[in-house]
Amino acid sequence: DGPVVTIGEILVEIMATTLGDGFLEPQSLIGPFPSGAPAIFIDQVGKLGAPAAIVSAVGDDDFGTLNLDRLRKDGVDVSAVAVLPGAATGSAFVRYRADGSRAFVFNMRDSAAGKIAATAEAKAVLAGAAHLHVMGSGLPIPAVHGMIFATIPDLKARGGTVSFDPNVRRETLRDAEGRAAFDRVLAVTDLFLPSGEELAMFAEGAGEEDAVAHLLAAGVREIVLKRGAAGASHFDRDGRTDMPGFAVEEIDPTGAGDSFGATFLVARRAGLPVERALRYANAAGARTVTIKGPMEGTSTFAELDAFIAGAIVRSP
Ligand code: ATP
Repeated sequence: DGPVVTIGEILVEIMATTLGDGFLEPQSLIGPFPSGAPAIFIDQVGKLGAPAAIVSAVGDDDFGTLNLDRLRKDGVDVSAVAVLPGAATGSAFVRYRADGSRAFVFNMRDSAAGKIAATAEAKAVLAGAAHLHVMGSGLPIPAVHGMIFATIPDLKARGGTVSFDPNVRRETLRDAEGRAAFDRVLAVTDLFLPSGEELAMFAEGAGEEDAVAHLLAAGVREIVLKRGAAGASHFDRDGRTDMPGFAVEEIDPTGAGDSFGATFLVARRAGLPVERALRYANAAGARTVTIKGPMEGTSTFAELDAFIAGAIVRSP
């Protein structure tokens, strides 16, 4: 079986160790941590022992090497990550506010992630994919957009599947072109992984049940709604399954949605029933939020089993 493949940004994250509103004064920082939503997702796929590959680009610098070393160590094929001599690997500085929201400084302008291209290596990896995970954040990048839509027809023709995490902002959907790109991906999506807020954005005012019914009627086979600390809900033609989250202390929520989605996907591809896949995915998300650094909390199945054995389920 071919790998799960995703396309998109790789960067590092540097984190303030104290709560506050931003970066207007010198402060203590930790990091750099490997990051980028597609990178976190694919790292989790690799850690679970499933074939995994990412199409991306990094600079010829330590931040790029840090990411490549980590992904390789966790079993991810990085042959389609271009190392670009003239570009820098991007970085994001994050500081948590007391209310749990985040203040960011992004150093992504002209970074390697914006220069992802359909190289020969990228085409080779995509031609062998068994599954493509599409991230909404990549759709506005023309080369990424182009590779996604060039890949999907052949992938589907050979029995492959597509998952879609919209990780989208409201402005993107208001833009007609942005909206059209999202609808085009949805039309070929087998597994849709929105948060509650994202589902509401797509549904444009329709309630959760109506939005889900509409998507299933349009051909999406499975929908998993991520509900943060409350856990997740799964919908398909056979009905609905709710799974409460695990009770943990949230220290750093970044990356939870990506490790959750990767774990649900790998568990389903391994033939596990919906309930077990949801429980593993909730465990992966919960572990991620208890550890500082977006990719530091990705998990093996052994780690998930140990976590579940000792964990407390939040009462619904
Ligand atoms: P992000 O964009 O920050 O990666 P998201 O909005 O896509 O996240 P969330 O719903 O925040 O997704 O988190 C994904 C999953 O992680 C949840 O469905 C849940 O299983 C787990 N999770 C997240 N936050 C918590 C928490 N505080 N306690 C326990 N589990 C959590």
